[in-house]
This record gives sequence, structure tokens and C-alpha cells, in this order.
Amino acid sequence: MFVVHVDNLGAVDAVAPRGSATFSTDVSAPDYDANMCSMRATILHADLDAFYASVEQRDHPELRGRPIAVGGGVILAASYEARATGVRTAMNIRQARQLCPGLLTVTPRIDAYSEASRQVFSIFNDTTPLVEPLSVDEAFLEVGGLSRLVGSPATVARLLRERVASEVGLAISIGVARTKFLAKVASGVCKPDGLLVVEPDAELEFLHPLEVGKLWGVGKVTAAKLADKGITTVGEVAALGEGPLVSLLGKGAGHHLSALANNLDPRPVVTGKRRSSVGSQRALGRQVRSLDDYDGVLLELVDRVCRRLREGDRVGRTVVLRFRFGDFTRDTRSTTLDQPSASTALFLDAARHLLLARGDELVERQLTLLGLTIANLSPATAVQQALPFDGRSSPQLDTAIDVLRDRFGAKAIGRATLLGSAPGPLVPILPDRGPEE
Ligand SMILES: [Mg+2]
Repeated sequence: MFVVHVDNLGAVDAVAPRGSATFSTDVSAPDYDANMCSMRATILHADLDAFYASVEQRDHPELRGRPIAVGGGVILAASYEARATGVRTAMNIRQARQLCPGLLTVTPRIDAYSEASRQVFSIFNDTTPLVEPLSVDEAFLEVGGLSRLVGSPATVARLLRERVASEVGLAISIGVARTKFLAKVASGVCKPDGLLVVEPDAELEFLHPLEVGKLWGVGKVTAAKLADKGITTVGEVAALGEGPLVSLLGKGAGHHLSALANNLDPRPVVTGKRRSSVGSQRALGRQVRSLDDYDGVLLELVDRVCRRLREGDRVGRTVVLRFRFGDFTRDTRSTTLDQPSASTALFLDAARHLLLARGDELVERQLTLLGLTIANLSPATAVQQALPFDGRSSPQLDTAIDVLRDRFGAKAIGRATLLGSAPGPLVPILPDRGPEE
């Protein structure tokens, strides 16, 4: 019998036995069975390691084993060699070079990352029909039904890792547990290139020694509040109890942390759920920009997001602009249309309105990221099409541009205002191809 089972860098099926004394005591855990979605560890959290950086090292052998950062002004991803020196995602390149003088920077190749993501997700979907995507490089997979067909969840995870390595050429770490939360924690703990199975009778033994930052929703502020009370581990959070946590952190956060620290996470793996929003964002780096520059970025984002709405046969009503400033603070502004639409012109008007309303402030504080999300989505078939009152919001124009881009590529046609501007990297996004709600 084993507590956790680690497969790291070739040490396949290595087993980490623990003392049976500590091991037999965790039946004293709270009676959470009624809340659990499964009594066995059948949920996989699979997460590619340093995704963009790994794709670059895969395709450029001279970059392997070296500290690299993918990005322009701002780092989108850093290799493990770079992370070892303290380089992190979202850091600006100058700051990163101070930490890591030998840092090599690589221009992002979004198409290559999208292709790798597509290949990995097709292996996920080939493994089990129960796949819940979290982002372009990670997903939950429920594999409890595969025991006769393929084998135990640990075996399924091992085969999945082998396939991703041999077919896509990338390392993927997998955590296996009875709850989503724990599976995600486990994959984080076993990175890079690891497999970690947390058996049901060893969950709290695994969880409680970890630092509080491993709990979902614990950022720097919450961690500091807890540290003030001498609490640094998940076990100490659990021992504190829900009452004191609520008085320290507020009702929502206190309840949430208390549940996670006791491994109460009843959420099942959910598949085929259509997203409730579609968005895109652009990192802007640190160079000084004008309102016109921001407007250019906004045009591109609206173009891209509206096109994705139309591809998915969906319409939306609410447009949300997301701002990140040079001092790392963030803010959002949103507005809602009178009726749902997928028209580029309508959303552009609405988004511009939001941008201009804060124009002076944005220029003064300097944006490092601009994001646009269209939410409040519904199927396009449910909409009564509005007439183009202003004479320029033509669905035919949008359709004609979509057709051109489908045939000749996204750059085949563009806005005259954006001619000559060098776009920064766009972040790849998951395809929205689920069934209708
Ligand atoms: Mg990842």
C-alpha cells in the first residue's frame, strides 16, 4: 500500500511509502463522504509544463537547457531554467534580465502554441469523453470509467504522459486525486514532468504540510493576514476552524478556505459546457503609448472577439474592458447593449466609449495590458436581427471579412488605421466548440 505515488523524470512507478503510524490516523478526518463526488482518486489534472517556453525548446534544440523567456516587453512564459533565477510570467524583460543576465528572449509564435494545444486536447479527448478544459494547456479528465478498458487512473495518467511526450514532444505533469482541487494541487507539486497520485486515505496527510499559498484563492494579501496569526500551512488553516477564519477573512473567503483545507470540493468534472464569455487580451509592455495606440489595440481585439462570436454562431450583449496598469493594479469597465449582437461595429462603438471615458487617465497611468471580453452570450439563432440603423453596422460586411480571413488567413484583410502598426503577441485561446446549452 502506498500513500502517494510519484513518477518524476523517468522514475516510473516509483513508490513513496510512508510510516503506517501517521497513515492509519487520518480516518479521524471530518465526515466528508456525503460531499464527495467519488470515493476513488479518478480525477486527473493534466497541465503542460512552462507551455510556450517548452514549445520553443522543442522546436529549437539550441534553446534546450538554457534560460529562455517568451515575450516582447512582458514575459508570457519562462523556461524552468529561467524560473530558477526568479524570472516569472508577467515580469517585464528588463527586470528579468537583472535577475538572469544570460536570459534569452524568444518572439512568441502563437500559431505553434495553438497547434500544440490542439494536439494535446485531441489526446485528452481520445483518452476519455469527460474532459473539462481550464485553459489552452490544462484540463481535468475524469477517468473512473476506464478501469476495465485501460487500467487504473495512475495507468491512464502514465499512458497520457507518454503519448503527449511522444506525439507532441512536450512534458505534461499530472495530478490524480478524488477532488479537482487536490488533483490541481498535486500536479503543481510534482512539476516539472511528474505524476503524483494522492490516494483517498492520504489526502489530508498530503495536503496539510503544504504552504497556504497552494489553496485556491490565497494570494499575497490573504497569506499575509494568515501569517500575522502564525498560520503558514494548510494544516494550520484547517486546525483554526471555520469560525475564526470567517472573522479573519470575511464570510466568503473564510468558508471557502475552511472547505479547501479540509479537502471538501464536491465539484464534478464538467464537459461540453459552452463558455459564458469570449475574450482576448494583449500585453503592451512598458513603452509609452498614446490613446491612439490603445484605440488601435482595441480595434484588433474587437475584430478578433466578434469574429469568434460569429464562428460559434453566438451573440453577446455585454462588453467588458480589462485594464492592467504599470503598477500592476487592475480595473475593469463594462457596458451592455440594448440587444444581443455579433456586429463588430456595434461592439467597437461600445468599447470605444468605455476607453474614451477614461482616456486621460489611461495615458497618464500607462496600460501594460488591455483585454476585451464579450459576455452575456446566447445562440445567434435566438436573436431577432436588428436593422442597421446607422447604415454602417452591416452584418454582410462582417461576413465578407470573415470569409476572406478564413480563406486567406487573418492578415489578408485589415483596417487601414492599423497599417504599419506592429501588433504585440496575442494570447491563444481555447476553441469554443461545445454543444448548445
Ligand atoms: Mg501549464
